[in-house]
Amino acid sequence: MAIEKLLIANRGEIALRIHRACHEMGIKTVAVHSTADADAMHVRLADEAICIGPPAAKDSYLNVAAIISAAEISGADAIHPGYGFLSENAKFAEIVEAHGIAFVGPKPEHIRTMGDKIEAKRTAGALGLPLVPGSDGAISDLDEAKAIAEKAGYPVIIKAASGGGGRGMKVCTSPDDLETLMQQAGSEAKAAFGDATVYLEKYLGNPRHIEIQVFGDGNGNAIHLGERDCSLQRRHQKVLEEAPSPILSQADRDRIGGVCAKAMADMAYRGAGTIEFLWEDGEFYFIEMNTRLQVEHPVTEMITGVDLVREQIRIAEGKPLSVTQDELRFTGHAIECRINAEDPKTFAPSPGTVTSYHVPGGMHVRVDSGLYQGYKVPPYYDSMIGKLIVYGRTREGAIMRLRRALEEYVIEGMKTTIPLHQALLRDPDFLDGNYTIKWLEEWLAREGDA
Ligand code: ADP
Repeated sequence: MAIEKLLIANRGEIALRIHRACHEMGIKTVAVHSTADADAMHVRLADEAICIGPPAAKDSYLNVAAIISAAEISGADAIHPGYGFLSENAKFAEIVEAHGIAFVGPKPEHIRTMGDKIEAKRTAGALGLPLVPGSDGAISDLDEAKAIAEKAGYPVIIKAASGGGGRGMKVCTSPDDLETLMQQAGSEAKAAFGDATVYLEKYLGNPRHIEIQVFGDGNGNAIHLGERDCSLQRRHQKVLEEAPSPILSQADRDRIGGVCAKAMADMAYRGAGTIEFLWEDGEFYFIEMNTRLQVEHPVTEMITGVDLVREQIRIAEGKPLSVTQDELRFTGHAIECRINAEDPKTFAPSPGTVTSYHVPGGMHVRVDSGLYQGYKVPPYYDSMIGKLIVYGRTREGAIMRLRRALEEYVIEGMKTTIPLHQALLRDPDFLDGNYTIKWLEEWLAREGDA
């Protein structure tokens, strides 16, 4: 099947990213947008635009009936969900397919399995991925929890089965606190996700976050596209990502990548996916799988030369993977800075109107953003307003280029996190690649005191 018209069920930079891939493939695009996004760049560029509701995401970007109607009215033959919103909603994927529209994403049953963290962990274990030691499934009995925690060793972390976005987790350092923390975690999970189920695993003290990009054709062929190091996090949210990871050898990459690709082949996974691991003392520990495109996918594109959105669309058309594992080459180094409309010190949101705008350019510099002069950043959505991605032959070269590009980038009319990135790129630990998921928060605390 050849996709001729694709509906983009998302907003912001990722909607623009998908539009660009479509037009490069000769595919027409349909933008759907809330009333708050009528002036968005991707809405202007798309071949057709349909307003699907008021600003609140639940009434627009999460409004399945309105999105399906827009697809029917416009005659779109495919829907790309982007990331966030409906991208990991198995029911939505099923509804799309039931309407005879191609869903640019995994099979609904795989979205469902991986969306439940306990089910995901069980599946990952069965497929041979290394796990964090802990409970085999949901845990409610205190004595059982104590026995498991004892075996894994304290501290342990209590996590919500339906959790996401870094929420619903409690670290427990002693058996005396286990009962209270399990109850707290359960009731918070119930309030946030409507599901009180929790599980327990060993808490890793100072790991890195390393994730593997995978792709499957849905028929049992799969590849990996190496790793991204996303250890620079604030409140479990990624701030800057790089590929390759400064600490992984080619042998490590081949080994873990091979395990992931084989797992995806065994489950006949379709489309793009990311298998997230914590890494400590040379060992990988599976934490979750995201069954969608990630924000940080461009760093992988930079070092492999593979357009991941194009690849997703090709697979949705039933075509084979465009590269084999043997053909893939990882060259150079890429870094992405997430630029948020936030105060760079307090992180308070700072939406506003762009009064002056200048994007950096030059060799190996990429800006994925829907900003333009006069654009009003709406206050209703995520604060990320763009991504700056650079490539260099070496990590040092990429860092020098990124500093230069950040110097050039002008966004006036609101506060942004550009100064935060500029400071990070001068830190000796960062320059040495010597950081874990704890590092940025400690650094921010130090900077705050200084
Ligand atoms: P979410 O789906 O909410 O993002 P994850 O399971 O991906 O949850 O975990 C988010 C973050 O929480 C991780 O990147 C890591 O910083 C921390 N974390 C999760 N599990 C552990 C663990 N076992 N030990 C230490 N930190 C953990």
